[in-house]
Amino acid sequence: MLELAVAHDPVLNARAHQERMANERRQALKTLFVAFPPQHRALLLEKLASEEPRYQGLHELLIYIQNGVFEPSTIPSEAAEVYLSDERATPWIRCKACRVLLPNRSGFWIKTGTPSFWQASMHYFKECPGCGGQLIHRGTEKPVEISTYFPLRPEPPWEFVNEPPIQQR
Ligand SMILES: [Zn+2]
Repeated sequence: MLELAVAHDPVLNARAHQERMANERRQALKTLFVAFPPQHRALLLEKLASEEPRYQGLHELLIYIQNGVFEPSTIPSEAAEVYLSDERATPWIRCKACRVLLPNRSGFWIKTGTPSFWQASMHYFKECPGCGGQLIHRGTEKPVEISTYFPLRPEPPWEFVNEPPIQQR
């Protein structure tokens, strides 16, 4: 009877659930830590602890590992550098060959000196920096269309912003 009471105790159940989640999170953190290139591991822990800015991509990687969506062995150094330097880079791209999750960022391209702007992703890479494999979307697995019009990263005259610029009247 005591076991039955314990099994139905909402407080104890909630606590067990929290402990399980914390444990899964620790396991995911270990997996991500080992997958990161050794020279970037200290910074990884520092960025994950950072609240402001919050490195969205790193937290998403942990969730995908926890959910079994991502089983990383090695994260290419170039991709690790993006996740650690751009707090808005999100792991929405996958390499078709080695399956690593690669960064992507949504926003707007602005051409300096013109009123024009375009909503389009920043891709950082045109192929997997680890193995040269094709880039596909994480969810749909469809090939990523890389525009040759925009650069892979901001460079003059191109700027990349999160919100559409306010129209001048
Ligand atoms: Zn690859």
